[in-house]
Amino acid sequence: MKYSLGTALLWIGGYLLLAAAPLLIAYWGPLPPPRNFWVEFSVGLGFVGLAILGLQFVLTGRFAHVATSLGLDSMLQYHRQAGLVAFFFILAHPLILFLADRAYLEYLDPRANLPRALALSAALGALGLLIVSTLWRQPLRLPYEWWRLLHGLLALFVVLVGLVHILQVGFYVSPGWKQALWVLLTGSALALLINTRIVRPLKMRQKPWRVSEVREERGRAWTLVLQPEGHPGMNFLPGQFVWLVLGKSAFSIQQHPFSLASSATRPDRLELTIKALGDFTARTGDVQPGARAYLEGPYGYFVPNPNPSRGAVFIVGGVGITPVMSMLRTFRDRRDPRPLWLIYANPDWERVLFREELEVLEPTLELKAVHVLENPPEGWTGERGRIGPALLDRHLPDDRGEGFDYFVCGPEPMMDSVVPHLRKRGVPLRSIFSERFQIV
Ligand SMILES: Cc1cc2nc3c(=O)[nH]c(=O)nc-3n(C[C@H](O)[C@H](O)[C@H](O)COP(=O)(O)OP(=O)(O)OC[C@H]3O[C@@H](n4cnc5c(N)ncnc54)[C@H](O)[C@@H]3O)c2cc1C
Repeated sequence: MKYSLGTALLWIGGYLLLAAAPLLIAYWGPLPPPRNFWVEFSVGLGFVGLAILGLQFVLTGRFAHVATSLGLDSMLQYHRQAGLVAFFFILAHPLILFLADRAYLEYLDPRANLPRALALSAALGALGLLIVSTLWRQPLRLPYEWWRLLHGLLALFVVLVGLVHILQVGFYVSPGWKQALWVLLTGSALALLINTRIVRPLKMRQKPWRVSEVREERGRAWTLVLQPEGHPGMNFLPGQFVWLVLGKSAFSIQQHPFSLASSATRPDRLELTIKALGDFTARTGDVQPGARAYLEGPYGYFVPNPNPSRGAVFIVGGVGITPVMSMLRTFRDRRDPRPLWLIYANPDWERVLFREELEVLEPTLELKAVHVLENPPEGWTGERGRIGPALLDRHLPDDRGEGFDYFVCGPEPMMDSVVPHLRKRGVPLRSIFSERFQIV
């Protein structure tokens, strides 16, 4: 993402307003007689918790504008934290209510109202399952795709039961326009899920792609070359990414994000370089030329400045080189003259993806590349170890107020040490772009 304090504040303000909207709606117009403070407090928590849960669908709805302004990684980090807040707020609602007045326990009593007791208990169970399956997905060995599907369905179930509960209790939702508003807001969450799961695959199906080549690269990685079938292809900016579905159905739950690694001058011939990391990526080498693929995108703001005189510094680790390759290849094809620096970390020399191509690109472009190896071969005179502050200070160009852009993409620890150091060196937030490949 591109860091910008102004944009962040704008989004946070808008978000807080929407999250608090149920309280504003509740207190609009004639009010019912007030109840005990803790009852009112717990109702407020329930309202806001449900609103936050509904907003979660917007954050993951893959809206190009939202994703562009916030960046996929920060948006998903935020989604995660907001999910926890929603969980505690919604859970606190019945707990505080029961402590304030035991009579409210009747809501969970099957003898008083069986469907109501079942629905509310199931919603509380779903909420618990939502959190447990998210926080402990890996120890539970839940495949990412199944988890994602379950996650959306559980959240939708909680939101729907919440809506029925609010309407049934009927407090703070008269006159009728308030009820209509609640139905509309909940319907929007459902519409967003339908959009992601049905409308977008339908659109992808209209523009299929064919794998024309599968190329083995260094470091257990493969490049898939994709060509459009019956359409002109996809215009994109170098550094952007797509969601890839391989196979006959665009509705597959196996949908993964990959950076476009090829030159943006060729919308009709895309390349994705995929490193074997888990169950899906480990099978890339088995993909046969001729296989069907579907793409959704392009997304992302990890893109170079259109001004060709603005220098760029790339600080990357391992497969994080892919979006940078797209930029370098595009600069080569466009004869872009801007000065470029690449600091590129890898475990060893054999696993340096695109090593040979970078050697050719160095003299072709205004590019200076620095390789950093954790286990260098004998006789290696270059940098060794990991990318850290001292290494950066040795190789980063003297900005001298010219205002270069900095692109950081690599393993989590690298990103967490590089970005603060750039800030310490006085690089403004607006000039730092970062992309995280690990999103959950
Ligand atoms: C913006 C972006 C660009 C990326 N570009 C590249 C690239 O160019 N080359 C490359 O090799 N990798 C890239 N990745 C990482 C790639 O998406 C994951 O390595 C891949 O999805 C792992 O899937 P798996 O089933 O093989 O591994 P798993 O072991 O199942 O997953 C490993 C991790 O990958 C992530 N992941 C898994 N499945 C998905 C999914 N369906 N959607 C989103 N994330 C998932 C999760 O964080 C998970 O913990 C990118 C990721 C992002 C977010």
